[in-house]
Amino acid sequence: MSVAENLKKIKSELPKNVTLVAVSKTKPISAIEEAYNAGQRVFGENKVQEMVEKHLELPKDIQWHMIGHLQRNKVKYMAPFVHLIHGVDSLKTLKEINKQAKRHRRTIDCLLQVKIATEETKFGLNHTEIENIFNSDAFLELKNIQIVGLMGMASFTNDENQIRREFEKLKSIFDTLKTQNSKLNTQHSKLKTLSMGMSGDYQIAIEQGSTMIRVGSAIFGSR
Ligand SMILES: *Cc1c(COP(=O)(O)O)cnc(C)c1O
Repeated sequence: MSVAENLKKIKSELPKNVTLVAVSKTKPISAIEEAYNAGQRVFGENKVQEMVEKHLELPKDIQWHMIGHLQRNKVKYMAPFVHLIHGVDSLKTLKEINKQAKRHRRTIDCLLQVKIATEETKFGLNHTEIENIFNSDAFLELKNIQIVGLMGMASFTNDENQIRREFEKLKSIFDTLKTQNSKLNTQHSKLKTLSMGMSGDYQIAIEQGSTMIRVGSAIFGSR
């Protein structure tokens, strides 16, 4: 099936409140254009340099999402245009994003990455670490970022029950923080987005309350 056909099929299955991020990492401009011409405007990349190059070449109404693990020294290159940064896992990184956003007189939306998988290699914060960030004085001073939700990746496994449990855990952290967060009542943290689900597990993620899925190979083919 073509990129356009894959997109159409996936979109037809999505509830209205779920946003599809088309993950175009490693894929050529032509593949992104095909998706763009089929109406897709939200794309995800995991390398800053690659995203910057694609941003330069492609139409400016594309929303670029950074979904990969962030190196702080690269934040400056995407600060002028990035729409949402998914994988933030430290206050230090938030401070750098804030600094670069301020230079461009923008507010940059971010998701905090939560570690739900059992694999050691996956990045992310735990519930307590996130609360500590929200409760820190340093966080309240970051006026040029907005935490709009959480992101997580399930373990790489065929065990659907495990994947389901991990997504369920992320949703429950999200819901808990949401109620606490309303009490904090800060301008720059409004939790509304729960980014979970990829090509292999997005149906399970949606059942567990995902509002944003990041799908690459099911749209563009294997990498
Ligand atoms: C590559 C990637 C995806 C998409 O993976 P597919 O299995 O191709 O859908 C989603 N999220 C993150 C963080 C990724 O790095």
